[in-house]
Amino acid sequence: MNRHCHLFLIALLSLPATQSSAQQAPSSHVLVIGIDGTRCDALMAAETPHIDRLIAEGAFSETTKILGTRYQGNNTVSGPGWSSFLTGVWADKHGVNDNSFEGRNYDHFPHFFARLKEAFPGAQTASFVDWEPIDQYIVSQADTRKVYPAEGAEDYVAKDEVITKDVCEFLAESAPHAINVYLGAIDETGHHYGFHPSVEAYRKAIETVDSQIGRILSTVRARTTYANENWLVIISTDHGGRGVSHGDGHKVPEINTTFLIVSGQAAKRGLIDQPTFVVDVPATALAHLGVAFDPKWELDGKPVGLATTAEPEAGQ
Ligand SMILES: [Zn+2]
Repeated sequence: MNRHCHLFLIALLSLPATQSSAQQAPSSHVLVIGIDGTRCDALMAAETPHIDRLIAEGAFSETTKILGTRYQGNNTVSGPGWSSFLTGVWADKHGVNDNSFEGRNYDHFPHFFARLKEAFPGAQTASFVDWEPIDQYIVSQADTRKVYPAEGAEDYVAKDEVITKDVCEFLAESAPHAINVYLGAIDETGHHYGFHPSVEAYRKAIETVDSQIGRILSTVRARTTYANENWLVIISTDHGGRGVSHGDGHKVPEINTTFLIVSGQAAKRGLIDQPTFVVDVPATALAHLGVAFDPKWELDGKPVGLATTAEPEAGQ
């Protein structure tokens, strides 16, 4: 080793540990897919081979709560639902109790991409959504950020398809450490035809989304570096539905209780044997990415379904 080289090494070693680790990016990847308004029993009734494979190759809950035990003051609608799903805290913290988004406090309780970037400034993130308020209000710190504003069931079907195509093109070329994909057609179909496993149009909407998820997963699995990327796939929803709506569902299990899938090599196999909540989605994503939780974040969610992470008692 020559003298210059030696000095360089000393300079490297004397960097504060936080600074040198902060330059790094995670060695894992996470794909979070949110499918709005998906009733768990309808998901089970529909023909969904791609989702079935994820469940078989991972951990699954069919008793995931969309409301906390500490706080249930928000309506069972998409604004608070996706806020909890993407920030990991309940509505008394993120401040969104309905679809007006008034009172939002994402400065203090941001999208989980922001927590990932705090831990790993070199992390790459991407977001694709067609319910515009998610992009407008919740998403932050997305290196790639696409929104496909949609209105009405048919338009959501069309926009979900465009998202799928664009996500496949994107993931064929790039591997963001965290990507969130939101598909809205199932919820819109439920509002139009009814949220119920016996409603054919609703089941078909779930089956269409399953095929779209299958295309996204095929793209990921076909990556030449896939074997080294340690992908975790997390899928859940913001609420179920009954009749043609899902508001005021605090006492309605078809609305307030749903499913959670945590799938991949890093996931446990089988039913998750502890209570699960939608706020567990970002906590699980962050844990998989190697992010140490800062108590100041006041996360309500906890990692679930991971083989390697100790699972603390539910605090919700
Ligand atoms: Zn919704």
